[in-house]
Amino acid sequence: MTRLLLIGAPGAGKGTQAVKLAETFEIPAISTGDIFRHNVKNETELGKLAKSYMDRGEYVPDNVTNDLVRDRLGQDDAKLGFLLDGYPRTADQVEELDSMLADQNTALDAVVLLTADTDEVVRRLLNRAIEQGRADDTEDVIRRRLEVYEEQTAPLIDVYAQRNLVVTVDGLGAVDEVTARILEALSARGLNS
Ligand code: ADP
Repeated sequence: MTRLLLIGAPGAGKGTQAVKLAETFEIPAISTGDIFRHNVKNETELGKLAKSYMDRGEYVPDNVTNDLVRDRLGQDDAKLGFLLDGYPRTADQVEELDSMLADQNTALDAVVLLTADTDEVVRRLLNRAIEQGRADDTEDVIRRRLEVYEEQTAPLIDVYAQRNLVVTVDGLGAVDEVTARILEALSARGLNS
């Protein structure tokens, strides 16, 4: 019954670590970015709307994102725990998530903050652009995504720090090393898989 958030700048390695942590804790990894990309690929109405924001490096509007997450957290597999990757990213989303959890009489166990310096994340994102061809991995859009993260999402770290939920982990190094660091930090808080 572990409920985790994963926060970090674009390129910090959230997606990669989310999959590993979800396996270890046997909980679903829920990535709003992945859900949006899936919808873009299938050309759904949600996908068309999301794409118009994603292609510019802007956030999809809160009401759309909140509805999506509320729906996803209501599904059976998320009732016994989850790892949210890339949500919440705005103050409004934090409030909405609080209300979703209150409705289910549950609460978060920890917020994992994955850190990486800006040069490194830009390098990783440009590399990913070459390897995966993600439409939002061009240099201009990457710059905008980093800006939006600093403006809207970085301040949320304080909100969760005040609730004493934040576990900060260095995201630099080999994937398995970073996973081990996260597991150790969570274990130090009594959260074991
Ligand atoms: P990254 O963290 O590398 O930017 P993601 O896959 O997490 O990549 O997100 C890609 C894009 O999807 C974001 O730039 C944004 O447009 C949209 N998105 C993902 N999560 C959210 C969210 N919680 N709120 C608004 N938009 C989101």
